[in-house]
Amino acid sequence: MVPHARNNYRPAHARTAGRWPDNNIRLNLLYTPMDMDRPGHPQTSPGRAGNGDVRPDGASDGASDGASDSMPHPTSAGQERRCLMVIHAHPDDESSKGSATVARYHDEGVYTILVCCTGGEEGDILNPAANSPGVRENIATIRHDELHDAASIIGYDEVVHLGYRDSGMPDSPANRHPEAFANVSLEAVVSKLVTEIRRTRPQVIITYPDERNHYPHPDHIRVHDASLPAFDAAGDPSLYPDAGKPWQPSRLFYVLFSGGRILEMHEQFLLAGKQSPFDKRWLERAASWTAKKSIIRIDVTGYTHIRRKALLAHATQIDPQSPFWFGLPDDVVDKIAPYDEYELARYVDGTGKIIIVDDHSAEAQGRSNATSGAGIASTVGSASGTGTDAMSETRDTVQDAVGSGSLAAILASVQNDLFG
Ligand SMILES: [Zn+2]
Repeated sequence: MVPHARNNYRPAHARTAGRWPDNNIRLNLLYTPMDMDRPGHPQTSPGRAGNGDVRPDGASDGASDGASDSMPHPTSAGQERRCLMVIHAHPDDESSKGSATVARYHDEGVYTILVCCTGGEEGDILNPAANSPGVRENIATIRHDELHDAASIIGYDEVVHLGYRDSGMPDSPANRHPEAFANVSLEAVVSKLVTEIRRTRPQVIITYPDERNHYPHPDHIRVHDASLPAFDAAGDPSLYPDAGKPWQPSRLFYVLFSGGRILEMHEQFLLAGKQSPFDKRWLERAASWTAKKSIIRIDVTGYTHIRRKALLAHATQIDPQSPFWFGLPDDVVDKIAPYDEYELARYVDGTGKIIIVDDHSAEAQGRSNATSGAGIASTVGSASGTGTDAMSETRDTVQDAVGSGSLAAILASVQNDLFG
């Protein structure tokens, strides 16, 4: 990995074992392009120096490493480069959810971008071995470094920090912090995401499903709520005119914590005579995911170990002894579930319209969902004005895409390939 001239991040191997980096809270969160020397990694253009200086209040205009505006997006073959953007709430989410998928696409030459919305300041220190003096006081800096290490292991080419404050677990005092991600203007968050989408031009975006009923972390809900209008608005020149040249991504997926994998892992714990870490709540949640019809399964054979390695980079958050994360050997996990699972939420049809395949957000927005179970689809027309209010007015035509066969066709095309 080549150190960037303006990057004050110190790679893990440069640290003294057991000693945390200096205590200076870094305000410059610029990164170098990730993992340039990884086998199979294509050469990418040098990263920009960045234009997103982070203010002392933690807000940011999107500090990032990576591609510059002048970076040529087309490949040498004259085609648009393939680009995958993944939007997460906290450091460690990028490792626990879909990390093997990103590793696979990175090695296939896809430019991979992680958008991390918060600094994870409210994260508990869940690994007793990492609970050293000074860790709590410097948790933001430490989690920043852990994120960088994990992103490098996974194979992210670029990390973008939106710079918001962790909102904390539901009903915790941190929920009320005025700078918490969940409390800032949704419009502002959408604007930042649109800016990043237009700058980096991903064909595929991965975000969270609506997890209000299962894991109602305010920041995860916020990621979901902001990602949908950002996807819808990025290609519309009448929306966010100051956020860059319009670019419409083709697919929006929700990452699932692999319901099938949870159920199979639960069985394996029982078969091995071990206590399963998956309780009734987890099993119900997993069952609801596997029942969905718009599940996409991505083969990550050869990459499942990436998740374990990346999780372990989050030393303060992940206990290496945790049966939840590491209770089964890699070879067992490889055998029962060499895949990641996603749900198709949006796609662009042959006429350029955005088709919504998302019964979660329909429920969240109070829209009628008579076709629940099969999924609904609605077209999104162009909107005038700016912002999410305008976007919400555009979903005026609702149709069942299952009967037309278009949803079935798109689901077939993206099985095992999010870009399909
Ligand atoms: Zn999280």
